[in-house]
Formats: sequence, C-alpha cells, structure tokens
Amino acid sequence: MTRTINITPSALLSEIADIGTDPVRGGYSRPVFSAPEQQLNQWFINKATSLGLEVEQDRNGIFWAWWDTPSKERTNAIGTGSHLDSVPGGGNFDGPLGVVSALSAVAALKNEGFEPSRPIAVMVFPEEEGSRFGLACLSSRLATGAVTPEKVRALTDPQGITYAEAAEAAGFDHSTIGADKEGLSRLAQFVELHIEQGKGLIDLGQPVAIAGTILGHGRWHVLIKGTGDHAGTTRMQDRQDPTVVGAHIVSAVREEGQSVDEARATVGRFEVTPGGTNVIASQVDLWIDVRHRDDETTKAIVERITQRAQQLAKAEGCEIRINEESFSPTVHFDNALRKEMKSVLSDAPVLDTGAGHDAGTLSTHVPTGMLFVRNPSGTSHSPAEFAEAEDVDSGALRLADVLRHLSL
Ligand SMILES: [Zn+2]
Repeated sequence: MTRTINITPSALLSEIADIGTDPVRGGYSRPVFSAPEQQLNQWFINKATSLGLEVEQDRNGIFWAWWDTPSKERTNAIGTGSHLDSVPGGGNFDGPLGVVSALSAVAALKNEGFEPSRPIAVMVFPEEEGSRFGLACLSSRLATGAVTPEKVRALTDPQGITYAEAAEAAGFDHSTIGADKEGLSRLAQFVELHIEQGKGLIDLGQPVAIAGTILGHGRWHVLIKGTGDHAGTTRMQDRQDPTVVGAHIVSAVREEGQSVDEARATVGRFEVTPGGTNVIASQVDLWIDVRHRDDETTKAIVERITQRAQQLAKAEGCEIRINEESFSPTVHFDNALRKEMKSVLSDAPVLDTGAGHDAGTLSTHVPTGMLFVRNPSGTSHSPAEFAEAEDVDSGALRLADVLRHLSL
C-alpha cells in the first residue's frame, strides 16, 4: 500500500487557485478554449513533464501524459484523469481534483520506486461540462464517435461563436477531430477520480467510494415564441407572453421530477429575449435536464413534461418547439474492474451518481471505473463544493493503490 504522499493534491490545487476565478459569480469559470483553460493546460503540461511524464495532445484535444514502461509501447495502458474546465461559477474540485490526484498518485508511486509493468496515462478531457457549447463530455464523445465532427464544429456558444471559430482562435486544429478508435484502443482500463456531487459518503462516514452507475440523463431545449410588445400599452387579455409559458413549464418540470422516486428534473438555464423590464418578451429559450436510473422512466418523464408544455403554450397562444439535445443512457461501470478496485479498497462503499462523466462516455469502448471523494457540502457546480485536505490525500493514495494493483 502506498502510505506516503510527497506531492499532495491540495498543494497542486493551490498552484492553480488563481486561474479562472469569477469575480461576478464567485468560484471559477474555466470554459473550453478560454484563456484560463489554456493556462490550466499549460500548467498541466509543465507539471506532468516535471514528473517525468511525456505529454501528447490527441486530435480531439485530450491530453495523455505517459508514464512509459522500458519498452515504450503505449498499449494495454491504464488511463486516469478527469477535466480542468468548469461550469460558470463552479467549484474548486469538480474536474481538477481528478487531474491533480492522478498526478499526485503517480508522484507517490514513483517516490516509492514502483515501476509499472503496463504504461499509465494521466489524461485531461476538454469541455467535460458542456458549459460553453451545450454538449457535455464533448471530447470523449468525439473520440468514441458518439457525436460527429460536423455537428461539433457547428455547435455555438451563448455569444454565437461556433466550436470551429473558437478552436481556431485558440490555435487548436479542428480539421481532424472525430472518432479515434486507435487512440482509445491503447487503453486497457480507465479510472476517473472525482469529488462526490451528493451526500452519499457523508451519510456513510467514509472518505472514498467506488462508483456503481451513472444515472441516465438528457438535455432538452425548449423554444417558446410569443409576441413582443409594450408592457404598458398591451392589455393583459391581448398578450402572448412566452415568459409566462416558460415559468409554468419550470413548475411542471419540478412537479414531474417530484412525482417519480429518485428522479431529477431541472431547469437551470432560462433566457428571455429581448430581456427588457418594460418589454413583453418575444421569445424564451429554456433547457430541461432530466435524470433517472431507468432510461424508460427518464423518457416517460420528458414525455409528460412535453405534453404539459405544449398545452401551456397553446393556452397562451405561443408557438413551442422542444428538441432533444443529448441523451446518455444509464452507465453501468465495468463489473470486473469494480471488483478489482474493491479488492484493493475493501472498505470503500459502492455509490451511484447522478452526474455525467467522461468515464461514463468512454465506458462504451474501454472498461472504466470511478472513485468519489467525500464532499461535506453535498453540493456541486457551486463555489460551496468542498473536500477536506485529509480526504483529498486519502483519495490520491487510494487511487495510487488502484493504479499499482492494475499495472503490476
Ligand atoms: Zn466533473
């Protein structure tokens, strides 16, 4: 067992603590292709190189920092890592914790003189949150072929900038993005460590858990068109107000989510056009996020929300369009890998999660598993997200134990 940690994850986190801070929302805003994200990438390259790893960036922008075996053959590898991008106003740990813990685990193993018999790759996946272009796990979806390069190039951010334009501005060559079976086939297994995004570990009094499943989830875009007009001169009975329809849809989403055990249904983005205090809006765009362990149940919830939304729009005389932007079925992590992890971490409980991860997307092509580190705040995608330094160290040590076991 690895018992000493020479470079702690907390020390590494403090090195990037000033990058991408958000003075308006608090926490961090580190969207893909932004200056903060590029600074973080450069930090990662420098740090991995200083640990003796050889860093490459593949054609989907994913970083691979290699701890080679003497043969230098990059096959049958163990991958570990996470993401460095954040949601707007995100916390300190969601993503970076998995990256710094992987670096920390590698440093600890090297420090004890361990030599892996299979290569280990510390990986960073860009645009995991989908916070800029609306599609979560973008790079792992590209690599696995879950989304086409054409679709990705045309995705737009809230400012109307396409992925292709943003990539070019950041100096990233997007001409060869897309399915990368050859690249992924170098991985025999992938383990992602992540801050827990709920309260499972607090209730169990444990610092680290092994993941069971990722709840299936999807995103739906709702566009409501009404009639823009004057807030003072338009009589109440003459209005087709899309904001009113949208507000009722928000309530309907909550009710439908509450009506099913262990379901989650959320409207977290609601945009009013043109957005003036004395103006009846002409258009509302809102996004619905629904999750459940059973995919058919998720679809049924969305179907009920859709029907209610259509009735609400009709009653107000508004037009409505609802489009599925993404749907990811429930991920059951690899059983054999989970058993191996459990054999090393016998006291770690197995927990499901409601959050999507690159490890989930990759699971269609590579046996994957995850570790979660206790988060006493129980919240995530918020600056309140937190982990004790002791638990963070414990997570990195356990990841080191797993990596050693898998690469013997
Ligand atoms: Zn994350």
